[in-house]
Amino acid sequence: ARSSEERGVVVIGLGRFGSHLAGSLLRLGHEVMAVDRDPARVERWSARLDRVVQADATEEDALRQLGITSFGRAVVAIGASLEASVFTVLALAELGLPQIWARATSRRHARILSSVGAHHVVFPEAETGERVAHLIVTRMLDFIEFGDDFAIARVPVPETLAGRPLSEIRPIERYGVRVLGAKVTGEPFRYASDSTVLPPGSTLVIEGNIDQVQRFAGLS
Ligand code: ADP
Repeated sequence: ARSSEERGVVVIGLGRFGSHLAGSLLRLGHEVMAVDRDPARVERWSARLDRVVQADATEEDALRQLGITSFGRAVVAIGASLEASVFTVLALAELGLPQIWARATSRRHARILSSVGAHHVVFPEAETGERVAHLIVTRMLDFIEFGDDFAIARVPVPETLAGRPLSEIRPIERYGVRVLGAKVTGEPFRYASDSTVLPPGSTLVIEGNIDQVQRFAGLS
């Protein structure tokens, strides 16, 4: 069994991003300690999160006193203040936190965060903007792009392929994508095999390189 500290995550900065993140971690069953320097923010979230403390996270001593070193993971969710974001990551790195996640608001910000000790950098505005662009211009219902030209998408089954078995469609050979499964509304997700017949009106989960996933999503 994992200790509560291992399951625990420190979230620094309760702006829009940090507060959603903290709420999601709680719903996933993780212990969350949230830190913000603004007393009004602390007051506002203390009823909804189990542990919210007021502190300036750029101060290494303040973080140490909060017992942050017993946590395995911290997320620096500060966006607007570059200085506060960078100094907070630096303080966490000096304290030797094993997993430091940090939010960047620009490519250069991301590079600085990595160089001062962030292990993982996320870029929510850029990532969401790109993802939504794909959703707007294609029939994809959902799209996750992994680095290195690989994507997974949820797409409506193209009408020309519905009702036919995968052994006949041969999506890998023909379209360069693998169909992982098919979902009919109200029914459980089914992994696809060669004998799977794509149900009309279903939603498919497909994987492949980005161009090919997009081309498949464009089939009608
Ligand atoms: P968002 O775009 O997600 O709303 P903001 O950057 O506006 O993010 O909010 C960041 C939060 O981080 C604010 O609540 C702010 O009070 C908090 N914050 C900023 N600097 C520090 C700091 N040095 N220590 C702790 N919290 C901070």
